[in-house]
Amino acid sequence: MSVNVRGKTKIVGIFGFPVGHTLSPRMHNAAFQALGLDMIYLPFEVRPEDLRDALQGIRSLNILGVNLTQPHKTNALEYLDELSEEAEHIGAVNTVVNREGTLIGYNTDATGFGQSLREDYGFDPRGKRVVVFGAGGAGRAICWALSQAGPQRLVIVNRTPEKAEALAREFGGCVTQWDDPEMGSELGEADLLINATSIALDLEADMISDTVLIYDIVYARGESSFIEQARGQGARIGKGLSMLLYQGVSAFELWTGEQAPVQVMREALGV
Ligand code: NDP
Repeated sequence: MSVNVRGKTKIVGIFGFPVGHTLSPRMHNAAFQALGLDMIYLPFEVRPEDLRDALQGIRSLNILGVNLTQPHKTNALEYLDELSEEAEHIGAVNTVVNREGTLIGYNTDATGFGQSLREDYGFDPRGKRVVVFGAGGAGRAICWALSQAGPQRLVIVNRTPEKAEALAREFGGCVTQWDDPEMGSELGEADLLINATSIALDLEADMISDTVLIYDIVYARGESSFIEQARGQGARIGKGLSMLLYQGVSAFELWTGEQAPVQVMREALGV
C-alpha cells in the first residue's frame, strides 16, 4: 500500500500501551485508500501517566479522533468533554471524536459486538442463555449490548467477583464463580459463551452443548485447546476479529461521516 501524506492529510489513530499488536491501522488505512479519503491512521504508544496530555494533544495537533485500547478505555472518561449515551452507561470509551476542539467519547465495542453476532454469526441474543467470562472494559461493553437485546439469562463470571456483581446489578444478570458447582449446568445450557477476559478459557469441552456459539473476543493469539476441542465436537466459534471489524466500521463512520467500506476492511483484517 502506498502512503501519500500531504499538508492537508487528516490524522486519526489509536492510543494504547502496549499498542504494537493492533491491526486497526491496517483496517482503517485500507478503507481511507478505497474511498480516496485524504486521511491516515497511526499507532501512538501512550503510557497511562501520559494519557491526559495525549488527549489534550488531540486538540493541540488538530487530530480528527482516536481509538483507545488497553489500558485507557475507562481512565479517559475524566478528560473528555462529552460522552455518548452508550459510553456513559458502559463507563468506557474506545473512540474519541474531535469536533472543533470538543472531545466526544463513544463506545463502539458494544455496537460492534452486537453487529458481529448478527451479521457474521446470525445470532440474536433475545431469549437466549448467555455466559460472559470477564468484567473489564470489554466485558462491560458486551454485557451492556446483551442487556439491550433481552437475553433469557445472563451469567457473569469474573476472577474479581465484586466487578461481576457490579455489572450484574447495573445491566441485569447474575454471578457465578469459576469453581461454583452450578457452573457445569450454566455451561451445559448456554446458547452463547463469551470470553471477554484477557486470558484463554480453560474449560472442559464436555461441559458445553454441541450447539453453543463460543465467542472469544481476543484476536491476537491462537486457539486454546478448549476451543479446538469444542470446535471438534460441533460448537461454533466466534472470532474476535469480527468484533474488531464492526467496532472499526462504527468508528470510521463517526470520524468521516461516510459509509464504511466493510468488505475492504474485512479483507484487510483477513476475517
Ligand atoms: P481489562 O483489563 O479491562 O479486563 C481484563 C479482564 O480479564 C478482567 O475481567 C480480568 O479479571 C480478566 N483477567 C485478566 N487476567 C486474568 C487472569 N490471570 N485470570 C483470570 N481473569 C483474568 O481488559 P479489556 O476488557 O479492555 O480487554 C480484555 C481483552 O479483550 C483484551 O485482550 C483485549 O485486547 C480484548 N478486546 C478485543 C476487542 C475486539 O474488538 N475483538 C475489543 C476490546 C477488547 P479481573 O477483573 O479479576 O482483573
